[in-house]
Amino acid sequence: MINRYSRQTLFGGIGKEGQRRLGNGYVVIIGCGALGTIIATSLVRAGVGRVRIIDRDFIEYHNLQRQVLFDEDDIQNGLPKAIAAEQHLKKVNSSVEVEGIVADVNYTNIERLTSGADLILDGLDNFETRFLINDVSLKNKIPWVYGGAISSLGMTMTIIPGETPCFRCFCSAVPRPKVVPTCDTAGVISPAPFIIGSLQTAEAMKILVKANNINRDLIAIDVWEGTFHHLKISPHENCPACQGRYEFLEGESGLRTTSLCGQNAVQVLSPGVGDLSFEELAARLKPVAEVSYNEFMLRFTVDNHEMVVFPDGRAILRNTTDESLARGLYAKYIGA
Ligand SMILES: [Zn+2]
Repeated sequence: MINRYSRQTLFGGIGKEGQRRLGNGYVVIIGCGALGTIIATSLVRAGVGRVRIIDRDFIEYHNLQRQVLFDEDDIQNGLPKAIAAEQHLKKVNSSVEVEGIVADVNYTNIERLTSGADLILDGLDNFETRFLINDVSLKNKIPWVYGGAISSLGMTMTIIPGETPCFRCFCSAVPRPKVVPTCDTAGVISPAPFIIGSLQTAEAMKILVKANNINRDLIAIDVWEGTFHHLKISPHENCPACQGRYEFLEGESGLRTTSLCGQNAVQVLSPGVGDLSFEELAARLKPVAEVSYNEFMLRFTVDNHEMVVFPDGRAILRNTTDESLARGLYAKYIGA
């Protein structure tokens, strides 16, 4: 043990006491793409006691260019990212409790999935879930570290509930899907997420060892231009989250959509629906679409889009990344 961490305990910011604190730490990483794999590998190697990794996706070849924990065998074996990450990291450091969870993080499960965590790390590719993390962080007083990377650009910010401005103070609403480029449209080169993931890891270490130099700015980098900026973020006086209104966590904003990165599909969650009767829905859709269903899912096609609906009201619309189209079709054919 001592040998394993000797170079880290020699570092003044950590020391033996810091190492002990890392060993007692429990972090939850949400999203295991480029950022998530960098953060996870760094924290497991650093000896953080417990690391939970949550991701809903499988690994594809275009992930290997930047998602450092995965290899071609994982793709051949059809492994979800969370499981492949767990398998690799258990071999890296068997003294860390590594737990991979394959799940879509949403307002119905995020509190359970992050319960008891010292810290949440953002490895996501969408804003909606970040607002959800922000809500759960403020509500349950769990610090979190935002990170995002696209093209040659990256940003990170540390949110300590009650101390720093929150993510919604900085970014008040979910940007409209067409305004925000994604890795699927603008591309991304590995140095951008590698640096941002590394900055997030350093913040995670500081929070866990209770250092007093947490970064309080938004850091923005451009690895192609070689630039690095600190931007001051002020608390926003009308920020709903800071005032204790957790709109995302409460599922208030009606239909929830998420573009499934790289799959040309959008997932729609409907807070109000609950137990759907496929028999009734099929009867309702019969005049407009060819419908098939079994006890697990119902499928139909409208305007060249296949929609797969699950009994809890969740739906996946294929052949588009347009979230407003998905929301519209869902509202039209299933009902919001
Ligand atoms: Zn705020």
